[in-house]
Amino acid sequence: EVRTRFAPSPTGFLHVGGARTALFNYLFARKHNGKFILRIEDTDVERSTKESEDQLIDALTWLGLDWDEGPNVGGSYGPYRQTERTEIYLQKAKELVEQGKAYECYVYPEEMESIREELLSQGKAPHYNYDMLKVYNTEERKKEYKEKGLTPVIFFKMPRKDYKLNDLIKGPVIFKEGSVGDFILIRSNGFPTYNYAVVIDDMMMKITHVIRGDDHLSNTLRQVAIYEAFNSELPEFAHVSMILGPDGKKLSKRHGATSAEEFRNRGYLPESVVNFLALLGWSHPEGKELLDINELIENFGLERVNSSAAVFDDVKLKWMNGNYIRSAKLDRIYKLSIPFIVQSGILTEEQCENNKKWLLEAIELVRTSSEELNDIPNELKIFIEDFKINMEDEEFIGYLNDEGVKEAIKQAYKLFLNDDEWTSDSVLENLKIAMKENKPKKKSFYMALRKTLTNEFHGPDLVKSIHLIGRARALERFERVIE
Ligand code: GLU
Repeated sequence: EVRTRFAPSPTGFLHVGGARTALFNYLFARKHNGKFILRIEDTDVERSTKESEDQLIDALTWLGLDWDEGPNVGGSYGPYRQTERTEIYLQKAKELVEQGKAYECYVYPEEMESIREELLSQGKAPHYNYDMLKVYNTEERKKEYKEKGLTPVIFFKMPRKDYKLNDLIKGPVIFKEGSVGDFILIRSNGFPTYNYAVVIDDMMMKITHVIRGDDHLSNTLRQVAIYEAFNSELPEFAHVSMILGPDGKKLSKRHGATSAEEFRNRGYLPESVVNFLALLGWSHPEGKELLDINELIENFGLERVNSSAAVFDDVKLKWMNGNYIRSAKLDRIYKLSIPFIVQSGILTEEQCENNKKWLLEAIELVRTSSEELNDIPNELKIFIEDFKINMEDEEFIGYLNDEGVKEAIKQAYKLFLNDDEWTSDSVLENLKIAMKENKPKKKSFYMALRKTLTNEFHGPDLVKSIHLIGRARALERFERVIE
């Protein structure tokens, strides 16, 4: 059975890279009818917060990446939060000590640092080994550790040999002998190091595929050595390339919204974000770009994950989101838009509710040109907010003075005045009559009309817009243009 995991450290938001890692693991597990596991790697107690854990869980839930085992849902291989597993790490490390594959050491961080500097100054690789560290294991030191309530540091005896790995994305990777020295498994505060805890957990949680960012590739060497020490089979490793901004630099804050939370706040739909993230490094066999979650699951495979860097293209994300905004159920877009509308200040929550029918119609119209939910209140403005018409606008005057235009507008005004029905159909009917009788150039008439009613020359369907503006407001706007 395929078992993948997403193992975030709760030290911040779910950024693009992490979200993509989570998604790839999720898709791979679902594709193979396997299990997707969420594990919280909070052993860096100084940087980890419960708040960030909650945010990560929220963001994953929002994206729809549900996990089969993990915090909140449990599972047979828990606990799924590393700080709740410290006993396990310690016990397993002691097994290695008993087998001579690891050793305890009563060294202080400052002492390690000075050894490091000494080695560097001699032009040597700063690699610790058993011989240079065992000198600290004096009886006196052991007593001191005991008094201070410290646990001896447990070091892993790194075998000095080449390691080879066949990464599912990078291909064969060779780690040359001596590229790392002995390293810490358990710190003096009793907490495990990342490289150690991750292996214990992946082993015990029976993870079959480790899919993660290639910034972890160099860690893999230490991890592989630990698996070997436990005589455990290796999982498959798949290291995904990093994500660059459109300028070719590593993706960062400078490139705009880069976390799931920000995407949500800007009015991206989760299905657009998921679709977009999937294409950051992976591609559909036929190059299809708009893919729902089922199509993603069906088609996902690591063999189509690119080994070179992916580029984060904001324009594409917007385009995608526009597509999803248009094709989603109207009622859902209505509900999702309300916070954005309220925040923009054009309508209160109560006004939104009291005018639901109108708002549904308006959203239906403006979503055709919205790429973020944030755009919706902007587009709605023309129906709600008043404006001052500039009678000196040359383009406007040009259209108005075109033959028959003023007359047609005057007549439309009169017809609207008597149009008690006020439906899109009646608006259209009246405009047709006004045109038929005054024969203006169609373009000039529509441009003048749109400018008169919306203060813009371009916008959504004009007849529908006029209907939404409402009769009273439309008449008022006419009166400012015709004497
Ligand atoms: N906690 C690590 C991180 O957030 C997990 C790395 C891994 O997947 O092994 O980068």
